[in-house]
Amino acid sequence: MSKTHPPKSKSAKKAVTAKPAAKKVAASKPASKAPSKPVKKAPPAKPAAKAPAKKPAAKKAAPVKKAAPSKAAPAKKAVVKKAAPAKKAAPAKKTVPVKKAPVAKKAAPVKPAAKAPAKKAAPPAPATKLAVKVAAPAKKAEAKKPAPAPVKAAAAPVQEAPPPPAPVKAAPAPAPKPPAKPAASGKAGAKVVTPAVAADPIAPPKPPVMSDEKPVASKSGALFYDSHMHTPLCKHAWGEPEEYAAQALKSGLKGIIFTCHCPMPDGFWPTVRMAESEFDTYVSMVQRTAEAYKGKLDVCLGLESEFFPGYEKYIENLHKRADFDYILGAVHWQSKDYLAKFETGTIENFRRTYLEHLAQSAETGLYDCVAHPDLVKNYHPDSWCFAIIKNTVSTVLDRIAKTGVAMELNTSGLNKSYSEMNPGNEMLRMMADRKIPVVLGSDSHKAVRVGEHFITALNNLSDAGYEEVSYFKKRQRIDLKISDVLASIRKAIDANS
Ligand SMILES: [Zn+2]
Ligand SMILES: [Zn+2]
Repeated sequence: MSKTHPPKSKSAKKAVTAKPAAKKVAASKPASKAPSKPVKKAPPAKPAAKAPAKKPAAKKAAPVKKAAPSKAAPAKKAVVKKAAPAKKAAPAKKTVPVKKAPVAKKAAPVKPAAKAPAKKAAPPAPATKLAVKVAAPAKKAEAKKPAPAPVKAAAAPVQEAPPPPAPVKAAPAPAPKPPAKPAASGKAGAKVVTPAVAADPIAPPKPPVMSDEKPVASKSGALFYDSHMHTPLCKHAWGEPEEYAAQALKSGLKGIIFTCHCPMPDGFWPTVRMAESEFDTYVSMVQRTAEAYKGKLDVCLGLESEFFPGYEKYIENLHKRADFDYILGAVHWQSKDYLAKFETGTIENFRRTYLEHLAQSAETGLYDCVAHPDLVKNYHPDSWCFAIIKNTVSTVLDRIAKTGVAMELNTSGLNKSYSEMNPGNEMLRMMADRKIPVVLGSDSHKAVRVGEHFITALNNLSDAGYEEVSYFKKRQRIDLKISDVLASIRKAIDANS
């Protein structure tokens, strides 16, 4: 999602006005700047809607070999299980194709902390007032299940509860900014989302499952998958799924997994995701493509599923609505809702909060993989300095490693403000040290990008210390040797050209 998301908050822009390079960045992404229309004022963010203390019940250490096929992977995929809910207002407008911004690469680390006080302006107002008010799927509050005890009793050492949501201090802490800003669009103006389902606890996390499947190369020799791409339903991606499939063949892949942005309730950033009423359309689109490419390319159903504290129950239910092959958990700091709630302290604190959320998302057990893990380096990209945040990253990676959840190496990072894959090589090495499995995704919002930079990504992985790379099918992880994957891509590209 990242590339086209409102690239930076106004605060971001403001904070960097002094730096020419940064200014250029901001200026080059006008499209996404919605005409900041004053948004209806809402009561100040209530920390009240805190996520129900997610108790990562018995955290699992390493992925368990074939633990209870938790998902009872039904043979037929892409079958919609739950009829879509209600119909609803017309889908949002706003499909402004955003021109990706070429940008300032890693500007020398600028002491970020110092500028903190300057920011604090208004978050972008991508806001279409279209707030699709979708009622959450009927099924919500079903009695919480007793907790299918994680198979294979968790290894001993895992007991300590995750550290408290550290840096997310409620607003009052840092020096308060001047009240009332002339522009009524400040944080206060941003719509504050109040999760409707916050009170429902989610089922305890289950240990990740490994697949028994022995991957076999396709006729062309292809073996690997691109596990992250979109459809026009998210309103900021272009091209039919079939075009993505065609490109995948050219890129030497055996399969692709569509992971479009999930619907969200309560008008949560509706302009960059499918509406709830389009969920079934999404599933059938993928199914249609799978049919069309049968025997040529394995087209699978996935979802880029938002993590936002308080919405875990909604997300949990959403994942039950179809037989997904892969659920990619994503935290998107660019959303107005996210900024409104968490952009409360210094720039560094905001980044730490973001990383904290990555760990939390993995600990919910709702996701197979954590998307574009350092996406937040595009928040004030000019002052991003890995050394400053390294300790936080380290702690967060320790937590993610314990869950067994995979992490993504997202090649679209090269097209973002901070031009580097997500994550960058240093973080990748830290992931390798912890043996966190990695899944590759192009995060294509245009067909031509499918499989883009995969060779480079695989080499980066090798350099970081990895020997294997992964993808998911039926929510189960499959690992392949990087050397085999590299050879397969080259071979298949030749065969298909
Ligand atoms: Zn994303
Ligand atoms: Zn997107």
